[in-house]
Amino acid sequence: MTTADTTPAPESHTFEADAAKLLQLMVHSVYSDKDIFLRELISNAADACEKLRYETISNPALLGDDPKARITLLIDAENRRLTIQDNGIGMSRDEMIDALGTIARSGTKAFMDRIQAVQEDKGAQLIGQFGVGFYSAFMVTDRVDVVSRRAGSDEATIWSSDGKGSYTVAPIATDEALARGTRVILHLMEDAASYTERYTLERIVKSQSGHVPVPISLIEKPGAEPQEVTDGAALWVKPRSEITPEEYTDFYRSVAGQFDEPALTVHFRAEGRHEYTALAFVPGSTPFDLFDPDRYGRMKLYVKRVFITDEADILPRYLRFVRGLVDSADLPLNVSREMIQESPLLAAIKKGVTSRVLSELEKLAQNDAEAYSKVWETFGAVLKEGLYEDFEKRSTLLGLARFKTTASGRVWRSLKDYVGSLKENQTAIYYVTGTDLARLEVSPQLEGFRARGIEVLLLPDPVDSFWVTAGVDYEGKPFKSVTQGAVDLAQIPLLEAQENAGVLATEAVMGFIQAVKATLGEAVADVRASERLTESAVCLVAPETGRDRQLERLLARAGQLGSAAKPILEINPRHDLIVALSNLGDAEQTLREDAAHLLLDKARILDGEQPADARTFSQRLARVMQRCVPNG
Ligand code: ADP
Ligand code: MG
Repeated sequence: MTTADTTPAPESHTFEADAAKLLQLMVHSVYSDKDIFLRELISNAADACEKLRYETISNPALLGDDPKARITLLIDAENRRLTIQDNGIGMSRDEMIDALGTIARSGTKAFMDRIQAVQEDKGAQLIGQFGVGFYSAFMVTDRVDVVSRRAGSDEATIWSSDGKGSYTVAPIATDEALARGTRVILHLMEDAASYTERYTLERIVKSQSGHVPVPISLIEKPGAEPQEVTDGAALWVKPRSEITPEEYTDFYRSVAGQFDEPALTVHFRAEGRHEYTALAFVPGSTPFDLFDPDRYGRMKLYVKRVFITDEADILPRYLRFVRGLVDSADLPLNVSREMIQESPLLAAIKKGVTSRVLSELEKLAQNDAEAYSKVWETFGAVLKEGLYEDFEKRSTLLGLARFKTTASGRVWRSLKDYVGSLKENQTAIYYVTGTDLARLEVSPQLEGFRARGIEVLLLPDPVDSFWVTAGVDYEGKPFKSVTQGAVDLAQIPLLEAQENAGVLATEAVMGFIQAVKATLGEAVADVRASERLTESAVCLVAPETGRDRQLERLLARAGQLGSAAKPILEINPRHDLIVALSNLGDAEQTLREDAAHLLLDKARILDGEQPADARTFSQRLARVMQRCVPNG
């Protein structure tokens, strides 16, 4: 028998399309801080050790005679080779094809989308900001071999690729593999030879992976003794007073996969009925998956320092940007992840950690308004989801909420600020919803409020359309849309006496309004004289009951709007154009009709919508313009 019979030739596979794209990016990367590949590979090795620890809870035999998790870096300078090796869970052949040939993580997919949306040089910076995983190895290598053996299996596999579109997999004799776990062998590029220097590696490991909860050792050359670089002690079990800010930051970076400074660090031990430690961070900048539709949190759950899962709902969805972990002393180790999810203990932990994170945010808001504004700027849109999802915390969240308003310029205002400057006789908190601030600020519906110095909250986030309808109030004041229903501003005086102000609509104007209503017929729910307009001629508002127009637009976009409510057209009876139109003679029937339709379309356009029918709109416009042109 020849060896060819016993060792099948390596099978060749091509990378899945997304994976190939990401690889392309790594191979041609101009990203200067290539050191991050090491953090990525070490983090995979640590994950593998933690997965093994978890599996051994139900199957202790998997540990064999090698119970202590460890990660080892082996230097082979002569061959310009660096190996990262772990005695974790390992991978079977199929798992390797799956894990290393495709991109399964939604986070990495989101990264890909981002990177395609920005220019190439910016893309390189993104590599630094987000963990991009295993493929980062191709920034520094000509070829990567991965030798792996699943714990408990008697087969080992070698995966190999130069990162240029395809890879091979082949079985490998078990005596060439570890008893279990994975060996990632990097054939370093010529200009990456420094990664075979012991001091370079020690420095990188200490700074990037110093708090990985698995000890990391280094073997300086083939045959040498391993030397410990980090001890794998869990940072969170140390008392707060013994942890430096730098240590917190390092830990935050490794647990959150972020590269900034945390905006807030929450570290506490709960004692009494339930014992657990929580170490949680509010990131200093937006994590890339903040608006993933599945809205997963990223808090890890440990039980007595054994990693259990990062899929436990430790925090509510509206705190999904918080990164970190909870280590419970009371949860049983030997239960399934599903059972842990349903445990009442976990519910108690969730409650405790949620309250603590919110109260720390309150403290920050009190003690450092500027830092807090930044947190709100980054995560406010997510926190506001809690206003309709978490009834219990609603008043806390309303206290934390900050708004841009018509009175604030671009400064964040709290509801306390707002209520502190209510006008006499003002009974509601007014708001306007939409998609961007600049547009909201010029909404015609705001005119009457502005003229009276009434502050209006500008709500530009999609989530705003939802919580305002959840029956929320603040200090007994309901929230009221300026684009919905009737407004009663008569009780609040204008700031400066305005010409015509208070002048009641003349009979001619009332007649015109009736005529417009007759002309528009079914297109609108009503046409009426407006209180809220002082400068513009017209605007649209939603009927008192039912949905606000912005909410309807959002639902329509999501394909969830059954039938749209008809808007109300409000006409400013004091506006020169309206007065002039009201005085048109009977002979001008066509003009009156064109004007009615054009007024409606004008109001639509002001709301960021399209005229109902572009063709008739332009015909009417042409007719009206023609009248103004001499000899038209
Ligand atoms: P992520 O770690 O975020 O899942 P990576 O690109 O870093 O993404 O790794 C992809 C996958 O490859 C991992 O999820 C894991 O299944 C597998 N993997 C990588 N390295 C190892 C290892 N040392 N041991 C076991 N599995 C590994
Ligand atoms: Mg990884």
